[in-house]
Amino acid sequence: EQSLIRHYAGKPSVTRDGVPIEIAANIGSLQDLDGVLTNGADGIGLFRTEFMFMDRPSMPSEDEQFEVYKFVLQRMKGKPVVIRTLDVGGDKQIPYIELEQEANPFLGVRAIRLCLQKETLFRTQIRALLRASSFGKLRILLPMIATLEELRAAKKIIAEETTYLQQSGISISDSWELGIMIEIPSAALLANHFAQEVDFFSVGTNDLTQYTMAADRMNRSLTYLHQGLTPAVLQLIELAAKAARAHGIWIGVCGELAGDPELFPLFIGLGITELSMGSASIPKIRSRLAHITLHEAAQWASQASTMESSEAIYTYMKGVLS
Ligand code: PEP
Ligand code: MG
Repeated sequence: EQSLIRHYAGKPSVTRDGVPIEIAANIGSLQDLDGVLTNGADGIGLFRTEFMFMDRPSMPSEDEQFEVYKFVLQRMKGKPVVIRTLDVGGDKQIPYIELEQEANPFLGVRAIRLCLQKETLFRTQIRALLRASSFGKLRILLPMIATLEELRAAKKIIAEETTYLQQSGISISDSWELGIMIEIPSAALLANHFAQEVDFFSVGTNDLTQYTMAADRMNRSLTYLHQGLTPAVLQLIELAAKAARAHGIWIGVCGELAGDPELFPLFIGLGITELSMGSASIPKIRSRLAHITLHEAAQWASQASTMESSEAIYTYMKGVLS
């Protein structure tokens, strides 16, 4: 294992036929950065910012957030850093934000829904992100987008804060990118519309599975519904990937399945060019990537998308990879 890390840490992430894939890391805090660097991630594909809002009595200020985002961007030295705006609600609570008691929190006021209701919270985070944008390669990711209206409301706020900061003489990068999570089935189904209004997609397989299968991702007695890559989820990812390609934007995967050694080749085969995972998985996935070609991955993906169960998909992939 140690030698695998050493061997693949500094190597480029390419398929056997030389197609570059970005193998990035998921982080939840600055403590995770050491692992990102030792495992040689090509970037950060998901910074879950909610953890810096949790376990504290008050909201982190704009300056406090700015320092954290700037630190991460600088530490990554020009490699891309995807920072996701606040995703609380659902299972994640913050003591200083009044959240209504909900019968179905995962179907409730979560993530972008909460941010559009508590605008001060969102505007503060957006200003901190925009100010940090000139310190590296920033990609801002909006979670739980279901409708075009939500995206446009978020973009309007971002545009207003951009104008405000520019008028205050603060420099903002003009090359930062905006993306949305594809983690609600409606976002995948409407991907053709969304692809015209963002720079990238990132598929959250955890929630996309939960919401497609109507099965609580935490409920162990429903494992059969959310284990592996279900055919319905695969088809939704395929739709999003096709829309991304048609409109010339890139698409990545940042849910748990991105780091699954048997399943990740299917994403490559669909034209996905970025995979983001816990940094410990990076060397293994990078070494496996080096053994497959884009052409064969595309064939596996087209076979797999005709299958009727996640077990069939998994068994098939185990077979072709062995
Ligand atoms: C996902 O839903 O797959 C995802 C990456 O987001 P989170 O696990 O933080 O909900
Ligand atoms: Mg999610």
